[in-house]
Amino acid sequence: MKALVHDGYGTIALVDRPRPRLVEPGDAIVRVTRSTICTSDLHILRGAVPRALPDTVLGHEFVGVVEEAGLGVTSFSPGDRVAVSCETFCGECFFCRRGWVNNCEHGGWLLGCTIDGCQAEYVRVPYAENALTRIPDGVSDEDALFVGDILATGWWGARLAEVEPGSAVAVIGAGPVGLTTMMCARLAGPGRVIALDVDESRLALARERGLADVVINPAEKNLDEVEAIVREVTSGRGADAVIEAAGGEDTFEMAWRIARPNAVVVLSAMYERDQVLPLPQMYGKNLTFKTGGVDACGLGEVMELIAAGRLDTSLLISRRYPLSDILEAYRAFEAREDGCLKVVITP
Ligand SMILES: [Zn+2]
Ligand SMILES: [Zn+2]
Repeated sequence: MKALVHDGYGTIALVDRPRPRLVEPGDAIVRVTRSTICTSDLHILRGAVPRALPDTVLGHEFVGVVEEAGLGVTSFSPGDRVAVSCETFCGECFFCRRGWVNNCEHGGWLLGCTIDGCQAEYVRVPYAENALTRIPDGVSDEDALFVGDILATGWWGARLAEVEPGSAVAVIGAGPVGLTTMMCARLAGPGRVIALDVDESRLALARERGLADVVINPAEKNLDEVEAIVREVTSGRGADAVIEAAGGEDTFEMAWRIARPNAVVVLSAMYERDQVLPLPQMYGKNLTFKTGGVDACGLGEVMELIAAGRLDTSLLISRRYPLSDILEAYRAFEAREDGCLKVVITP
């Protein structure tokens, strides 16, 4: 089969690989019908994920059809259409039992990082009982494509932020994860969603699609000015909840500065550098920080919301490429060509 691998130094290549086989009883082999490229794949190529293993098939965001299921897989059979969690988790350890599957003692982010991922024709999915979510008949593969990663991340970020009816939620970053975060935050009935991004086209999309009520472009503004604008639209208080989904140079500082006292600040972004936590400056603000690493186990709920027409991610799809053209897809995605948000890889 064709598969996209990297060499550990940032170079990718489409190569021939043997089709994966069942190894453990809990495994399933999934034929990939749609996959995509995630910013985390670019983090691997830039060397920002030290545990990522070279010569591994990249990719962890996909849907497909079960081809083979191990003896321990009882809920899924060959032919089932499924969305797959970006995280591998046993479901039984201390962390999994509490829903903190990102910290599973036997899993975590493995697919496309330490074991072969989905930018290929087939993929072996460990702990398939936990990783797979059936796609209902009325939901297309593309409708469900983002369930296992960026939608799971948006869902998780919005939940951690404790969004309440009427509250003012600020989302930093209007890229794919920022937009899914806004979609999921809206389900809790906030008073207003404030989107911040330096990319005007992304802000325009957030506003036009009704995901953001207020948009702020922090480019050419200092953080004092950004903070003042946020206060202006939040009765002088600052945002009740802030979700930082950008991971930019100063977005961590922006996140805690635009938060009102006693707010929750969720950091779902993945930083490539250390960040400064200036405790003297934030003394008395009584903030709660929640650090990143999505617990991608709410897939069933997210799928229900898609089936019910309450979540729709079609606006994220900018382009489609066959697997044979995936190098070009990487180039366009990384360059954000023509405002590219997400690319879809087809068989
Ligand atoms: Zn990802
Ligand atoms: Zn576990």
